[in-house]
Amino acid sequence: MDDPDLLRLADQCVKCGLCLPHCPTFRLRRAEGDSPRGRIALIQGLTTGQLSDNPRLAAHLDGCLVCRACEMACPSLVQFGTLMDAARAARVARLPAPRRWWRRLRLDLLSARWVLPLLTLLGPAYRRLGGAALARATGLLRRPRLKVMHRLVLRLHGSRRSSSVGPDRCAAGARPVALFRGCLARALEPEVAAAAQLVFARLGVVTTSPAGQVCCGAMHRHNGFPAEADALLAQNRAVFGDAAIVGTASACVAELRPALQATEICRALLDQPWPASLRLQALPGTVAVHEPCSHRNQLRDANAVYELLARIPGLTILPLPGNDTCCGAAGTYLLDQPATALRLAADKVAALARLRPRWLVTTNTGCAAHLAAAAGEAGLDVEVVHPVVLLARSINEGFGAT
Ligand code: SF4
Ligand code: SF4
Repeated sequence: MDDPDLLRLADQCVKCGLCLPHCPTFRLRRAEGDSPRGRIALIQGLTTGQLSDNPRLAAHLDGCLVCRACEMACPSLVQFGTLMDAARAARVARLPAPRRWWRRLRLDLLSARWVLPLLTLLGPAYRRLGGAALARATGLLRRPRLKVMHRLVLRLHGSRRSSSVGPDRCAAGARPVALFRGCLARALEPEVAAAAQLVFARLGVVTTSPAGQVCCGAMHRHNGFPAEADALLAQNRAVFGDAAIVGTASACVAELRPALQATEICRALLDQPWPASLRLQALPGTVAVHEPCSHRNQLRDANAVYELLARIPGLTILPLPGNDTCCGAAGTYLLDQPATALRLAADKVAALARLRPRWLVTTNTGCAAHLAAAAGEAGLDVEVVHPVVLLARSINEGFGAT
């Protein structure tokens, strides 16, 4: 997007301020520069050359979660997410080449298929060789970035392995669906793909998981590398062709959907006819639903999770209070802005402590990792799972047993 287009988008803001109470960073800091309206004004100043890209301005713009809660509240329909992505791309393009290269390398590594699986091997070593105990004892965890990384590594250690799906028979002639796995989900939530296969199989739908699929590109797009994000989309388009794509991570689906017509898995399952013979076993207990920003504000279909869970007998389904506020995971945000990410997660943990559910479901991998780590550290006895995993357990009691 060139500067005139970016300005046209920014100029749609009439500065009414109705979005301000909905913005998590404004609520935390009470500073205009940390509000949607303030950030739009900063982008306008930057684009017209009235402001220079100094550290104070960068802190305000980089502090944005791109959660799009402001979009939901805006009467002028300002496309804040698109605007912020374009502003970040313009700023990245002006960086000196070595800094740009370093940022790009970091994103490439985070989204590379081999990096997270490698970390899952290092995670147990971190615990066994005393790294975790040392980090606690030396006070290193008082530093937010180290604390976030420590939590994530422990989460990698605790990830469950993929469960066996079993030889389910599928209805002949049903159109297969192609599962988009997502780079984070492969490493952090391998059981989700197995659950998806099991549930689709019981609905008579064949699933495929095309080889060669790559990262959806969301991390690159939200961090100022749109060309690289488009290249990843093109690779996925070549891999999936005209298959019906179903994604298990809402952020990936939100990135893929405009170009590849991907469907979020809860909605995809609800759209299928369910055989009358399908019996679901009761799962007695309370489940709290966390609504990822990508599901709530981008796909705008978080209701699909509640509808799907309502098919499981015995469940008491409650929204996690504060669902209109981001949990702080927000793609790479928890690595880049760890203090704010931890602060936002603490609010979610407080809500969980009041509700005391047996399960917390979320459709986004980053949120799941962030919330599971925060809840675990707070000593809460809550299992953080994808809703499709609960559904799979209700269909097949042995699913996911460890
Ligand atoms: S995207 Fe989220 S954090 Fe950023 S300005 Fe909008 S509401 Fe605030
Ligand atoms: S609600 Fe929309 S128009 Fe009003 S200040 Fe916020 S972004 Fe601008």
